[in-house]
Amino acid sequence: MEGELLDAQVALRSSDGRGLVHAPVALTPSPFPRVAFDRACELQPLFNELVFQTVREHKLLDDVCAKLADQDAFVRNLYAIFRQHPAVPALFLSVNRSDYMVEDDCIFQIELNTISASLAGLSTKLTELQRARRRSDWNIPENRACYAIGAGIDAAVDAYAQEYEADRSTLAVLFIVQPDERNVHDQQHLQSSIRASVIRRPLDSSDFVVDAQSSRLSVDGHEIAVVYYRAGYAPSDYPTERHWTNRALLEGTRAVKCPDIGAHLAGLKKIQQVLTNRDSLLRVLGDADKANQLATCFAGIYCLDDDEEEGRRNTQMALESPERFVLKPQREGGGNNTYGAAIKDALGAMSPAERSTYILMDRIRPTITSITILRHGMQSTIDAVSELGIYGVILCRQDTSGDSVSVLRNCEAGWLLRTKPAESDEGGVVSGYSVLDTLNLF
Ligand code: ADP
Ligand code: MG
Repeated sequence: MEGELLDAQVALRSSDGRGLVHAPVALTPSPFPRVAFDRACELQPLFNELVFQTVREHKLLDDVCAKLADQDAFVRNLYAIFRQHPAVPALFLSVNRSDYMVEDDCIFQIELNTISASLAGLSTKLTELQRARRRSDWNIPENRACYAIGAGIDAAVDAYAQEYEADRSTLAVLFIVQPDERNVHDQQHLQSSIRASVIRRPLDSSDFVVDAQSSRLSVDGHEIAVVYYRAGYAPSDYPTERHWTNRALLEGTRAVKCPDIGAHLAGLKKIQQVLTNRDSLLRVLGDADKANQLATCFAGIYCLDDDEEEGRRNTQMALESPERFVLKPQREGGGNNTYGAAIKDALGAMSPAERSTYILMDRIRPTITSITILRHGMQSTIDAVSELGIYGVILCRQDTSGDSVSVLRNCEAGWLLRTKPAESDEGGVVSGYSVLDTLNLF
């Protein structure tokens, strides 16, 4: 029995909101090729840079979003905020997580999350518990995700204090949170690793006060240096107009947004698809060697644009062999993808214009391993596949023209392993599809 693993720190709020339940976990670490892990860590600073450069370069975001906005009200609203605030922010902070699956020891990027990349807190705590067991046959790498992200946010507070000559000790970080969030313990671990005080508010709060002259943001009399979003990534996070006006209001303040609206949009799956094109990638990054390195982990991703010959060819390819692909809309947070035979029905039911808002991706088939998990208080052994996430932090300062940039921090920032039943298509931990896991490198 692996009872010692049970720990109140690796917890979720219970569904009824009253108590806490243990997060679903793997009881022992899952075997994972070291070369794949090392490679994913190595690439992270380049992905961070890619997010930053996508925002700076602007044109690709504009082209992609303008087109999507015709069809997709959510992207339209986000893009409208981007258009209102096109200037590159003086201080840019992005906390990213690049997710991968491994096939034959090679990593393939599943997606790049640029907003609300979660689970760093729980993943760090689970790793600490497993490493503390000191089993000689386990090679679990250190995982400082929660501390590294906290340190990144603190570095942004320092940069803000310097930029605006503010007293650091009076500055606070604002967490924008979902009112019915179950993953609160994960967030609390991160809060505890931030030196500055943290204020939590929902997106529709009436407490945001902006000084018209300086665009200084304050909440309850505390000046806010960083706005960190753990909400705002899904249409359901904007049930009223006020949610939208507040997102726009916050964007217009001088607080460092994590992410700013451009970096949020840079995480769209359509951007991921366009950047698999080598010319686009090179234009954004401006460095052939970096572009080549990133491209080594790209799976095939195909556009389904109705106005291009290529898009029509790709649609035909999906209809002929749907088992080879995953169909994805421009959404985050799990539960949105279509797999296998269902792709045919889904594509068949869409207008050509609607189809162009989706991307088609090669389905990765990771190695299946047998693991013992604890879920809903029950222990069971399942055939499972894993998805590795590598966190990254980038903090940059630039002058108002955007000509001079200094990179204050750009680092890989710890990891997450989620493991799910081999037959399950989706992958969220809080949504109950997968379990939190640790790496046993070989
Ligand atoms: P979301 O933004 O909803 O998290 P993802 O692109 O991460 O979207 O897809 C959700 C889940 O679907 C992933 O966690 C993974 O388990 C599975 N998945 C996504 N893309 C692929 C793929 N190309 N091959 C195999 N599984 C995939
Ligand atoms: Mg995902």
